[in-house]
Amino acid sequence: MDNCLFCKIAAKQVPASVVYEDDELLAFKDINPAAPVHLLVIPKKHIATLTEAQPEDTVLLGKMLALAPKLAEEHGVSVVYGNDGSPTRGYKTLVNSGPDGGQVIYHLHMHIYGGPRPWRGMH
Ligand code: AMP
Ligand code: ZN
Repeated sequence: MDNCLFCKIAAKQVPASVVYEDDELLAFKDINPAAPVHLLVIPKKHIATLTEAQPEDTVLLGKMLALAPKLAEEHGVSVVYGNDGSPTRGYKTLVNSGPDGGQVIYHLHMHIYGGPRPWRGMH
């Protein structure tokens, strides 16, 4: 897509702090982090919002979600179980869709937030 910021990041026409890349996906640090760890996972192909995702994109969507725990682990925010079995740390995955969903960039992306709270503007 012409004039899509995240397509340009995927095409390496705009720099980003890339933390993961494969044939279909790219992950990079959010430029304005709302939490100590704030990453974005995008498909390299342009899908404007979750609404435009097609049945054939289901595996791609699954790969985006499945990447979250791997990146969380690499960035030190994975869920860790204490000696008593209770969970500690953790992260949030979020996809905003459309204006009421808080979407600003119209290329599908999944946020990964983690690290010690408080986080900006977030529950
Ligand atoms: P959303 O509101 O879900 O569309 O989120 C868009 C996110 O993209 C925001 O958290 C922005 O901080 C982030 N963002 C905007 N431009 C860039 C950029 N050039 N590199 C990395 N993240 C960006
Ligand atoms: Zn795009």
